[in-house]
Order: sequence, then structure tokens, then C-alpha cells
Amino acid sequence: MVKAKTIIKNAPKIKPKVAFYGITGCAGCLLSVLFNEDEILDLIELIDLKAFPFIKEVNVEEKYDYVFIEGLVASKEDLEEVKRLRENATFVVSLGACACTGCIPAYRNFTLKENYEHLLYKKVEDLEDVQPTPVDMHIKVDHYIPGCPPNKKEILTFIRSVLRGKIPIPYSSPVCVECRQNGNECLLDVGKPCLGPITAGGCNSVCINGGLECWGCRGPSKDMNLELMIKILREKGFDDKFIQDRMRTFAGLKLPMLDEVIKHTKEKVGAKNE
Ligand code: SF4
Ligand code: SF4
Ligand code: SF4
Repeated sequence: MVKAKTIIKNAPKIKPKVAFYGITGCAGCLLSVLFNEDEILDLIELIDLKAFPFIKEVNVEEKYDYVFIEGLVASKEDLEEVKRLRENATFVVSLGACACTGCIPAYRNFTLKENYEHLLYKKVEDLEDVQPTPVDMHIKVDHYIPGCPPNKKEILTFIRSVLRGKIPIPYSSPVCVECRQNGNECLLDVGKPCLGPITAGGCNSVCINGGLECWGCRGPSKDMNLELMIKILREKGFDDKFIQDRMRTFAGLKLPMLDEVIKHTKEKVGAKNE
């Protein structure tokens, strides 16, 4: 069957100049762009794809209208690259959890060097260059498409919207809202450590739909109740070390208050039991 072409009404006559770049990451976010199959091919006809080193041999370095950055800043080279991209871009999009929250590669902020240095193929002294950090800790970011990997549809929605001259409004409710709309059984009720209540939605609760708990890959929701989440997980039998590790996996750098909240809630429980 021949698929209908994507039509963008009032698409600009001058195609926007777009670039996709990766710094420290696994390329999964860039693959999410490409794995949009037929539809991305239609949309790519409507943009001027200046650079995408992952798939293109010739990449033009000039002023871009939109630059998507995958990965987090974890080396001096990354830092120079994001600064160069910022200077050359009108609009910067952090693509994926590494770029938005630091994700799994940022976990080394929370562990000892001897736990990970043997796993790295780069010279160990490189590690001292830059602490692994999300892109917006170094340059101004105009828009975020979170997730590990990001939702393919969300990437398409963003490209379609900018072709119409609009920027999509980020989904603001926690994962639980979409999860309930999808009719899932609540995993917390059956004792699984789901972080849906404190995680920004917009992924259509994809993990829970498949029977897996939410690990928080889209980062903290705007008005999360961290204290209540910790309390619920404790009541389900999870200890503080587990809670801390789980919450830090994808979004540790966006939860700088975590240790303090764990300590404070423990003191409150202790005082109540005295
Ligand atoms: S966010 Fe996930 S998929 Fe994207 S680069 Fe990081 S680890 Fe890979
Ligand atoms: S399974 Fe998770 S995301 Fe779904 S309602 Fe329960 S806590 Fe929320
Ligand atoms: S359910 Fe949670 S872990 Fe899964 S994609 Fe959504 S935010 Fe990420």
C-alpha cells in the first residue's frame, strides 16, 4: 500500500536550515529521528538538512535555524561543540534524556571513580575535564524533547509545528495521567517501584503499557511531590538506598534535593514513632 504524503499547510517557502548533532551519548536519540520511517522522509523534503554527521558525509557548518543536540557534556570536546552549536543556531533543542537531564552517563557524578574508570576506553585523565552534565548547564536551550530514547512522534510533532511557525507546548502532567487514560493496572498497587507520579509525561506511558514500571527517563514533573513518592516507596518495602539509586538513574542531576528530602522524611518518621 502506498502511504499518503505528509502535507504541511503553509510550509515556509524558504526551508529552515536544520542540523542534528551528537555529543556523548549512545546514538539512540538520533536513531529515533531516523526510525520514523516514511514520515521523516516526507518531512526532510521540507527542511534543509545541513548537518547530520551520524548519517551524512558532507556536513555544512554555518548558521542553522534549528539544531538538535543528542548527548550530555562529558568532555572538553563536548563543551566546545555545544558552544559552537549555540553560536551558530537560532534555536537549540536538547534531544533525549542525556541532553535534558544527564541520564545514565551522568550517574558517575554519584559514584566513586574506581567503580567506573575500568569501563572507559578513553584516557582516564579525560574524566577530569568536565563533570557529566546536561546541555543546559553550559548553553541556553530553547526546547526540550526528553526521554531515553525520546518519543519518535514527539520529534515529528516538533518538526511539523516549526514548519507551521509554532513551537509545541510541552506535556505538563505526570506519566500517571496517560497511564490511567490507557487503563493500566497501577504497578505501585502490586508492589512495583513505579516513578510515574513524579515523572513528566508525554510518552503515552509506554513502559507501563508493556508491563514495566516507569524509571523516570523524562525527568521530574513540574510540581512533583517527592516527599510523598519516597513515603509510598518506603511503605512498599523499598529501602532508601534503592529509592535513591532508582531516582538518580535518569534524572539525578535534576533532583539535587533528593538526599535532603530522604533525610528530612526519615527524621519525621522517626519523630512520629518516638
Ligand atoms: S538519552 Fe538514551 S537513547 Fe539518547 S543518547 Fe542518551 S542513553 Fe542514548
Ligand atoms: S503504574 Fe505508575 S504511572 Fe501508572 S498510575 Fe501507577 S504509579 Fe502512575
Ligand atoms: S514510562 Fe517513564 S521510563 Fe518509560 S518512557 Fe515514559 S517517562 Fe520514560
